[in-house]
Amino acid sequence: MPLHNPAAHSDNYNELVAKEKLGYMLDYAKTSTIATIVAPLLCIPLYSDNTPELLFKSWLVLMAIVVLVRLQLIRVIKASSDITHNFTLLNIAVGSVTLLWGLGWFIFVIPEDPVSYLLYQIICLTILFVGMVGYCVDWKTFCAFIVPLKGLEIIFLALNYQDIIWPISAGSMVAFYLALKMGFLFSKSWERSFSLRLKNDTLYEQLVVEKNASIAANIAKSEFIATASHDLRQPMQAINIFIEMIDHRHLQEYESSVFHRIRKSVSVLNKMFNTLLDISKLDSNLTPIETHFSLGLMVNDLRHSFADLCQEKGLGLAFTFEDGLIQGDPHLTEQILRNLLSNAIQYTDRGTIHVNFENDQGHLNFSVEDTGCGIPPTDMSLIFNEFYRSDHSRSHHDGLGLGLSIVIRIVKKIGGECAVVSEVGKGSKFTIKTPFLVLKSLESPSSALSMNAKPFTNWVDASIRNAANTVSKSSLHIGIIENDDSLRDAYLQYFTTAGYQVCEIPHQEDKFHAFLQDIPKLNFILSDFRLGQKDGIYYIQTLREEFNDEIPACIVTADTSPQHLEMFKQFNIHVLHKPIDIQDIEEFILQQTFSSH
Ligand code: ADP
Repeated sequence: MPLHNPAAHSDNYNELVAKEKLGYMLDYAKTSTIATIVAPLLCIPLYSDNTPELLFKSWLVLMAIVVLVRLQLIRVIKASSDITHNFTLLNIAVGSVTLLWGLGWFIFVIPEDPVSYLLYQIICLTILFVGMVGYCVDWKTFCAFIVPLKGLEIIFLALNYQDIIWPISAGSMVAFYLALKMGFLFSKSWERSFSLRLKNDTLYEQLVVEKNASIAANIAKSEFIATASHDLRQPMQAINIFIEMIDHRHLQEYESSVFHRIRKSVSVLNKMFNTLLDISKLDSNLTPIETHFSLGLMVNDLRHSFADLCQEKGLGLAFTFEDGLIQGDPHLTEQILRNLLSNAIQYTDRGTIHVNFENDQGHLNFSVEDTGCGIPPTDMSLIFNEFYRSDHSRSHHDGLGLGLSIVIRIVKKIGGECAVVSEVGKGSKFTIKTPFLVLKSLESPSSALSMNAKPFTNWVDASIRNAANTVSKSSLHIGIIENDDSLRDAYLQYFTTAGYQVCEIPHQEDKFHAFLQDIPKLNFILSDFRLGQKDGIYYIQTLREEFNDEIPACIVTADTSPQHLEMFKQFNIHVLHKPIDIQDIEEFILQQTFSSH
């Protein structure tokens, strides 16, 4: 929407200037009313035997009338909105008072008496000064104020030129000239500064409008991403599970190659969904957590997750680190590393990716360095922008252009710093400084346990997860509540085939309550969140009450709203986001059921 710019429309601008001037002068005229009443009384001592009595008295009476008229005019001006008319009235008000003071030359000054001349001259200079302070903002009003006073003085001097003390008169005229000049210059510079103020106000207004528009656009974008990815994740989740269930070992060569291509494309799609999920989490005011985690275990997870990819591309992957306990947010640290590592692998065709962890005066810093295609200097300032993908690396693209923007947002969130150096054709190095504390170094880096890298990985409780694998699957009863038919079938098929006792729980309220009569004791509940009239929390809590046991439970959802996440936490219900590998869900179930034993 084009903005109304007052400075750009001269009519409007002139009116604004006139209003501002009038406001200032009216305030001044009002506050100086007392002075206009008191000042004529101070002239009484000037009365002498030579003063024409009738003229003097008439002057006093006239002055009283003019002061009253001036007061009345100020009131009229305040009430009226006609600017030109108001200026005329104000000029009459201020000019009529100074006209009477100008007439004072003919009443109070005796040309041959230097004392009376000097005294009246001082009074007039004071009035001149008062006028400069109050009416200089408008050149015409200032003239209306000053000209009657000084004009009549000039006439008086001309009529009495033989008796007058010329040096004083000359000084007075110089003061008059300077006052006029200063009045003119001040009026112009006031207009300039007012115009600047108007421009600033307009720019500020424009900035506010644009800022609000960009906030609104950002919210709309986040909502769109959240909604679109929410709806698409449901079928993606089913596709993931069915793909995992295909036993590709017995496929013919051609089918097997097609299957692998499908799996690769699905994995790219999963990556994109997870990126969108990261973005919507970051948009929903995610706050970093502070916990302790083992650097060695995190490195092992990363090594485990990226090893295959590196091997496929014939790349080396080397980690340099001294194992230690870190105080900070493990998930955000891992997210940064995962994004940098997948970029490094994606944009490198040969060589080795080096990931280096350092203890920088008690704080954790790390870098990811590759020997890939590098980033042209012209792109360096753009690569952290959302959806930016450099033309230089076009042949390697399979992302959305969001990875680095997520990195930079997380780095800002944790209060860290990010730097990048790169040379085209030689490689790139991304360095991250974190405020996370390195608490203590562990003696043997090789003592780290090897684990799979999963989004819910808890590096501190790794031993629990390892031991969980020993729990007999056939003794575990998993309750499944899912309203999407294909997804429910996929869960049932997968867990039954894997040897678990699986219990399909109805998600319609009446059927659910009837079902409660013969339901076996569950070890874990896996539920969707949105299930029609009631949600997953309701079914999980009802089952927990039925068995009078805090059965470990997990909601697998595409919902990322912070309010819902907070609600799951309150009910001690874990949450996994779609799309997620079925093996990840299984491992999570094993971990949770074991730790609750
Ligand atoms: P994406 O990788 O999905 O395109 P990113 O935000 O992660 O999006 O990266 C933005 C752009 O920065 C990429 O398109 C690529 O041109 C460039 N880039 C990022 N990391 C590297 C790297 N390690 N080597 C070369 N170019 C990179």
